[in-house]
Amino acid sequence: MPPSGAPSHDGAPLNSLKQHAPMTASTLPTRNPRTGQTDYEMPVHSAEQVAAVAGALRLAQAAWQDGGADARLAAIGAFAEAMLAEREALAAALTADTGRQRESVMEVDGMVATLRRWLHDAPAMLADEPPRRSQVSHITIEQHKRPYPVAGIISPWNFPLILSLIDAIPALAAGCAVLIKPSEVTPRFVPVLERIIARVPGLADVLQIVTGAGPTGEAVVRNSDVICFTGSVRTGRRVGELAAQCFIPCHLELGGKDAAIVCADADIEQAVRALTFGSMVNAGQTCMSIERCYVHRSIHDAFVAALGASIGSLRHNHPDIHSGELGPVIAAIQAPIIERHLADAYAKGARAVCGGKVLTLGGGRWCEPTVLANASHDMAIVSEETFAAVLPVMAFDTEEEAVRLANASEYGLSGCVFSRDVERAKRIAGRLNAGAISINDAALTGMVHDAPKQSFGYSGLGGSRMGKPSLQRFYRMQAYLISDGTPSPWWFAARP
Ligand code: NAD
Repeated sequence: MPPSGAPSHDGAPLNSLKQHAPMTASTLPTRNPRTGQTDYEMPVHSAEQVAAVAGALRLAQAAWQDGGADARLAAIGAFAEAMLAEREALAAALTADTGRQRESVMEVDGMVATLRRWLHDAPAMLADEPPRRSQVSHITIEQHKRPYPVAGIISPWNFPLILSLIDAIPALAAGCAVLIKPSEVTPRFVPVLERIIARVPGLADVLQIVTGAGPTGEAVVRNSDVICFTGSVRTGRRVGELAAQCFIPCHLELGGKDAAIVCADADIEQAVRALTFGSMVNAGQTCMSIERCYVHRSIHDAFVAALGASIGSLRHNHPDIHSGELGPVIAAIQAPIIERHLADAYAKGARAVCGGKVLTLGGGRWCEPTVLANASHDMAIVSEETFAAVLPVMAFDTEEEAVRLANASEYGLSGCVFSRDVERAKRIAGRLNAGAISINDAALTGMVHDAPKQSFGYSGLGGSRMGKPSLQRFYRMQAYLISDGTPSPWWFAARP
């Protein structure tokens, strides 16, 4: 990686660099999650192509930064309008990538809302602080924000659009150029997103997408000045190690095994409704999916029956994609993981209250909406991330025990607590090792993006992607320490 700010390229047009750089251009066949067939060829950008694109971004970034926050936010506003203009095409491409339609529309609309939220929030966050007098009385301090030239973003397949842009937008607002590498599992939305970017004058100079698998991702790390990675713990660890070698900051958003605690005094109807959504949205393929549920023994049986009835009433969106609530297993490698977790759970005494299998429908794999009773912590389905429409339930007797079980995980992304006594729920929340706790609802981080939070344990490392700290990840603070000319007393005191 060249030192921050050092141009490394002769400034050829960016898209020509991706298409015509004299490197080993190739493609990767991509599987359709609804049919199991490969029906799309994704371009694979080589390390050399990534370096060339990053070099051109680095060159263009200075003007983007110097143009000022107002101009950058105007471009982000135009990006939102361009996305709205291509709403149907973008949602259709995301639907082809993921096999689910409703969530694809939600992704596009949610992204437009996120862009507009940054237009509202960023000006105050980026405003210059007035100069101030130091504790050393003859010194005036001026603080300046110096963006990292190139922010690299590496994203997963479960929400391809949102997770490619959620960190890119604050990075652009802060004055960085941005290089995105989406997941190789879901690349069909990329050409549409590139078309949208091209609708905004100048935006493609500072916002580029490269596609490929792990080697392309590694090249993104090597050619960036700050990295935001969303994905598995296993890959996150490798990305973190490479970022350390490159001596660049790295923000990791990784897996989860979020726990729900349902107290004896919870509103059962409300908790069932929230947990049905929180565990099953996107067919359970969300990082903040509720993957473990602890229920007070006094209400356990009634609760399990109600949860089973609610989750068991959900349907697959097959054969009609517009029907039902649950899409297919998006990534082929997930299906055997889910099957292994289920087999292990049954072998150790778990019982399916509803669902319980991974089906093959029309060539795709579809996890039945599943509630498991008699679950326990020796089961992989309780200790490892399943990333599926499966919710194991366990009973607890005391608040102490509920907290101990919820914390018995290497993950710490988020969680939730249900109690009519909000003070009690807050007391429990304060003892949980997780970054965000929804109270009397579930998975609220999916829509509440203005509350700073960090990931605990193996769920991540680095700054918050929510709220003001999200933007602060993309610049360094520089201080001007301006003397009024008074000689420093330290110098004379130090002379013999
Ligand atoms: P993954 O780790 O397999 O891949 C993520 C990205 O990393 C992909 O773009 C992939 O091509 C890239 N990659 C692979 N090897 C790389 C390497 N050596 N160097 C650089 N990049 C490399 O994850 P996935 O299966 O796509 O996503 C699912 C995981 O993501 C789950 O664990 C889920 O919990 C997690 N996730 C976390 C959040 C969060 O905010 N915490 C959000 C969504 C998903």
